[in-house]
Amino acid sequence: MKRRKFSQSLATSIAGLSLASGLGNRRLSFGQKKLGIALVGLGNYATRQLAPALLETQMCALKGIVTGTPAKIDKWKKSYDLKNHQIYNYDNFESIAKNDEIDIVYVVLPNNMHKEFTLKAFQAGKHVICEKPMAMNSLEAAEMVVAGKKANRELFIGYRLHYEPHHREIIRLCKSEVFGKIKFFEGGFGFRVGNPNKWRLKKAYGGGALMDVGIYVIQAARYTIGQEPIAVSAREFKTDPVKFKEVDELITWQMEFPNGEVANCTTSFSASTNHFFVAAEKGNIRLSPAYTYGALAGYTSKSKFDFSQVNQQALHMDGIADSLINGAPHLNVGGEEGLRDMKIIDAIFKSVAKDGKRVLI
Ligand code: NAD
Repeated sequence: MKRRKFSQSLATSIAGLSLASGLGNRRLSFGQKKLGIALVGLGNYATRQLAPALLETQMCALKGIVTGTPAKIDKWKKSYDLKNHQIYNYDNFESIAKNDEIDIVYVVLPNNMHKEFTLKAFQAGKHVICEKPMAMNSLEAAEMVVAGKKANRELFIGYRLHYEPHHREIIRLCKSEVFGKIKFFEGGFGFRVGNPNKWRLKKAYGGGALMDVGIYVIQAARYTIGQEPIAVSAREFKTDPVKFKEVDELITWQMEFPNGEVANCTTSFSASTNHFFVAAEKGNIRLSPAYTYGALAGYTSKSKFDFSQVNQQALHMDGIADSLINGAPHLNVGGEEGLRDMKIIDAIFKSVAKDGKRVLI
């Protein structure tokens, strides 16, 4: 892995970041077992990112899989040394309750299935990590948060970037007003979606650009400005009405914050963009690329800053495990944080339906 030097001006600040692993000095105590994670849904993200990351985690490990595709099982068993009792399907998922090796169920299914499997996992007595967006809308999301509380189990969202060093540093720079007060945010995340038959282009599955990648821009605007938006105005545009018959191709939206700060945001399933820019009174901060798994690149009006590439998924899951084992505060990746985003997404869709009318959140 390429180690890049980050600028001297920011180097000092890093000492103050108890971040890089998010684990601080805490580790498993002698004899303490790692938390067991079961992945539900063995698609792209589970296969290419989460399972490999679970080979790097220090406080949690893969202890189960849930799949509806028997053809995948052998390969997973071999790759991750899984035994028959650790393999589940969607029909016998409930029996995971009897498996004490599994502490956390990680829901990595299409968005319309998140609520169902989160609730089932709580019923089985497990903690849950649910992928973003946590649900189809804020009503579902609120139900999931309540279900976790009732079951006395924790709900976390797959917000991996909260554990990524560039994002941690930018949150610190914004919070401590190194460049003065934040006035304006501009950001976008989009890519050209491929296969038109996939669930990401189907409304019933919770497809569309905003739900898939626009949510990262909402997140970045909220954690840089450090406030909750109070109103939103949004418009949708299509260049391919056939491919994007059911879901949004491109949405631009503006979020208003309580002290007059503003965020202009874009998401797209047809154009490639991956950045954000924060303008403050005495300078600015930029991240581009901003949201990918690989190396990110940060700039301020004074200098460039780079941190070594990390395994975002491993840090995220270890941070969560640390909070469950040691009670260490996680980096704001709880269900309530996901619910806030779902309320904003609801308001954006409401504004789009009214052709850009301002909607209060
Ligand atoms: P995917 O299509 O590659 O995988 C989905 C999995 O769900 C497949 O294994 C599929 O077999 C299974 N599945 C079960 N029932 C299904 C049904 N009825 N229809 C379709 N698939 C069904 O998707 P993915 O890219 O792995 O995304 C899964 C989730 O992870 C989504 O919520 C997505 O937003 C999230 N995700 C998060 C990140 C991140 O960086 N945090 C990155 C990618 C995806």
